[in-house]
Parts: sequence; structure tokens; C-alpha cells
Amino acid sequence: MNKRTFLKTSSALLAGSLFSPMISCRTDEKPLTNWAENLTYSTGNVAYPKTAEEVREVIRKADKIRALGSRHSFNTIADSTVQQLSLNDMERFTRLDKTANTITVEGSRRYGDFCELLHKSGYALHNLASLPHISVAGACATATHGSGIKNGNLATAVTAIEFVNGAGEVVTLSRATNPDVFDGAVVGLGCLGMVTKVTLNLQPTFMMQQAVYRNLPMGTLKDNFETIMGSGYSVSLFTDWTKQNINQVWIKSKLDGNSTAPVKLAPEFYGAKLATQNMHPLDDHSAENCTEQMGVPGPWYERLPHFKMGFTPSSGKELQSEFFLPIEHAYEAMQALAAMQADITPHLFITEIRTIAADTFWMSPHLNHTCVAIHFTWKPEWEAVKKVLPKIENKLAPFNARPHWGKLFTMAPAVLQSRISKLAEFKTLMAKHDPTGKFRNAFIDSALFG
Ligand SMILES: Cc1cc2nc3c(=O)[nH]c(=O)nc-3n(C[C@H](O)[C@H](O)[C@H](O)COP(=O)(O)OP(=O)(O)OC[C@H]3O[C@@H](n4cnc5c(N)ncnc54)[C@H](O)[C@@H]3O)c2cc1C
Repeated sequence: MNKRTFLKTSSALLAGSLFSPMISCRTDEKPLTNWAENLTYSTGNVAYPKTAEEVREVIRKADKIRALGSRHSFNTIADSTVQQLSLNDMERFTRLDKTANTITVEGSRRYGDFCELLHKSGYALHNLASLPHISVAGACATATHGSGIKNGNLATAVTAIEFVNGAGEVVTLSRATNPDVFDGAVVGLGCLGMVTKVTLNLQPTFMMQQAVYRNLPMGTLKDNFETIMGSGYSVSLFTDWTKQNINQVWIKSKLDGNSTAPVKLAPEFYGAKLATQNMHPLDDHSAENCTEQMGVPGPWYERLPHFKMGFTPSSGKELQSEFFLPIEHAYEAMQALAAMQADITPHLFITEIRTIAADTFWMSPHLNHTCVAIHFTWKPEWEAVKKVLPKIENKLAPFNARPHWGKLFTMAPAVLQSRISKLAEFKTLMAKHDPTGKFRNAFIDSALFG
């Protein structure tokens, strides 16, 4: 018997006294960790309902419970000291609506699990994050994003959600029928309830190619930041902040129609040279786990993420932080950070710079502003990183920078709250769907109420 089967069997016996017998909840032998393993959750009590009715039952009976996605967040946003709720054992649900051009999937579905199906059916999503391994509900809850000056974060594809609120009732909201609160609910930080289904807007499938250029002088960005970031459908810059240099520029371009003919790549880009082999964002890492580059055409879902589905994304043992600020301050903010290179670089694997189009979600860091995202993939050195983060946050304070909800930050709650213009409206929505604060955890209590 493998560990998972054993746990399921023994939990069925254990669960009887705590939960209704029809609910297959289990208490793990030890709490789960997040993907990066920098965090062990504070409870091993994870409910794995198999049906929609079981989800409602678990939530109805809980005093405190927190939704768990694919565990890719780096901070305690998904943590609970009492109980977590995972939809991983739920039956798969896929509804492709070719009239409305939408797909509906269960909340725990990972993007990488249904992109190929979409492509084969003639459809695409507008964008993906750097990895396809994250769950749809978990990604949208934290305003997870890819890059592209005209591309909103992943939540902007959502046209409807179904969730189970604090009373165990099923609530369905759509942009069309609930325009007053929809923008408050989609980037919901897990605070309104357990998102069981998500409907995503689709567009016709498209082919892409990806090129990497090496060593772009940072000064080039002073007058050309938006032009450079707009030079492809999705553009990322990677730097380690040394020598005023952008180590790599990743340009992901759409090909015309369903063309599979590569467009010839220019050998130079603003002084940067076209890479002659596939690259990993970290110059010295193998590119084996990275999506195909060198201008080789491929479908959107095999070019938009940096990392392939079947492989470990990013570095593996790492920490991440990310800050968002209005795009017009991008170069000034980068120069402020370059000035503290001596603090940052020793603990850094790499920084990635991306852009995200403005959206309308109340809790999104991109609300009403097209943003630049300045991301740090840190070495797993939390003691050192937590000393650098306040310095970075201070440097970015003049630009009212906001942190990524799922990554590491040290910003004081009062400062964070002062930068969320729709916080009061969001709290009212929380009170409506979760009047007893069942879905609140220490992270939410501190970040939104501390
Ligand atoms: C290697 C790596 C690369 C990454 N790349 C990117 C990137 O390119 N862009 C980016 O923006 N971020 C990126 N992230 C961060 C990641 O996308 C976010 O942390 C995201 O929220 C993770 O989703 P998850 O499914 O793992 O959710 P979890 O981390 O499990 O949970 C995150 C939040 O979502 C809530 N939640 C989860 N499921 C549900 C549900 N069904 N209903 C209600 N609430 C729910 C949780 O309660 C919690 O508040 C990356 C992370 C890693 C580890």
C-alpha cells in the first residue's frame, strides 16, 4: 500500500468521529509543505472532498478553513492552523462552450492540464504565468500574471466563478449578471469561499515563437522601456543587477494566423545579441526544462510559460518576491534597485521584469494601472532575504509599489492597506459571504485587518 492509499484508508476510519461518514477527510501524518518547501503549513488537517455536496458539508461544519490550491505560494496566504480544504480529489469537470467561446473547469485544475485540449479544439487563453503547474482558482485568487503590455493578469480571462460561501451555499457570479461585485470576487485571496468552478474567456488558437537576446545595456531602457516591453506579445527581462546589464531579454511573438513558418530573427536587439542556443533564465542552468526558443514555432501554451509542464519550473530550491508599480516609473525604480545591487545580488538567483495591463479587480495590484512587475527569485536564504526586503520596499515606496499576494514581502499592513483603494468594498464583500470570518487566517488578519 503506498502512502497515499494508506492515508486515505486510515483517514476513512479516523474521519468518522469528526465528520459525516460520506466525507473523505483525512488528517495527514504530518502537515504539507508548499512547492518551494520554505513553508510547512500549520495543520495536517486537510479535507479532500470528492463531490460538490461534500465541499458544502465540510465548509458548513468548519469554524475556520482555508482553501488550498497547488501550493505554489511562498508566503502563508494559504495556511491555516485549523483546517485546509483541497479540491484535488474532486471529479474532473470540463465544459467547452463553443457558442460563448469559454471553458469551465473545476477550481483546482492546473492550466497545463487543459491547454492542449483547448489548442486542439481551436482555442487559446490570452496568457499564462511562467509555469503551467498552478491551479486556476489559486492563480486567479492572487492575481497571478504573465507578461505583455496589453495582457491583463490571468484573472482577466475569468467570466464567471462558482464558489461555496461561509454558510456552505453555492454562489455563482458572472461579469455579465453581477457587474457590481464581480470585480471584487475574482481576485478573492480565498476570502469569500472555496472556488469550485471557473469559466475562462477563450480566443482563437495562435502560434508563437520565442527568441532570447543576451546582454542588453540597462541604460537603453531609459527612453525605450515601453517600446522594448511592447516588442513582442509577451516580453521578459532578466537581470542580476550587476554592471547595469539585462542578462537576457525573452521575446515571445505571435505568428500570423496559424502560420508555422518561423519569422527570421534579427541578430541584434538594441545592442543585445541573439542567443545561439536555448537558454535558462539563469545563464548557468540547463535549458532542458525551458520552453523552446531560437524562433522555433509552437502553440501558445508551449511558448507563453518559460517552463515546460513535465519539468521542475524555475530553480527549484528558491524563494520569490515581486513588486508592482505603474509602468511609467519602471526605469526610475530599476535604477533605485540597481543602486542597492550589493545588498541584492549575493542572495539573488535572478530578477525578472515583466509588464501587466491594467484591470478592474478590487484586490489586484494592477487595478487601474498598467504595471511593471519587478520579481526576485532568491536563493533559499530567508534570514538574509528578510533583511533585504524592507530596503527594497523602502526604495520602491515613492512609486506606491504593491507586493504579489502569493510571494514574500515584509511591508507593514498599514502601508499595504493604504495602497489598496478598494479595500473597504472588499471587506464588505467578505462580510457578506463569510460573516463569521471562517475563511480568514493569520495572513489575512494581518495584511487586511492588522
Ligand atoms: C516556480 C513558481 C513560479 C511562479 N511564477 C509566477 C508567475 O509567472 N506569475 C505570477 O504572478 N506568480 C507566479 N508564481 C506564484 C503563484 O502563481 C501564486 O502564488 C499562485 O497563487 C499559486 O497558485 P496555487 O494554486 O498554488 O495556490 P496556493 O498557493 O495553494 O493558494 C494561493 C491562494 O489562493 C487561494 N486558493 C487556492 N485555491 C482556491 C480555491 N479553489 N478557492 C478559493 N481560493 C483558493 C488560497 O486560499 C490562497 O489564498 C509562481 C510560483 C512558483 C512556485
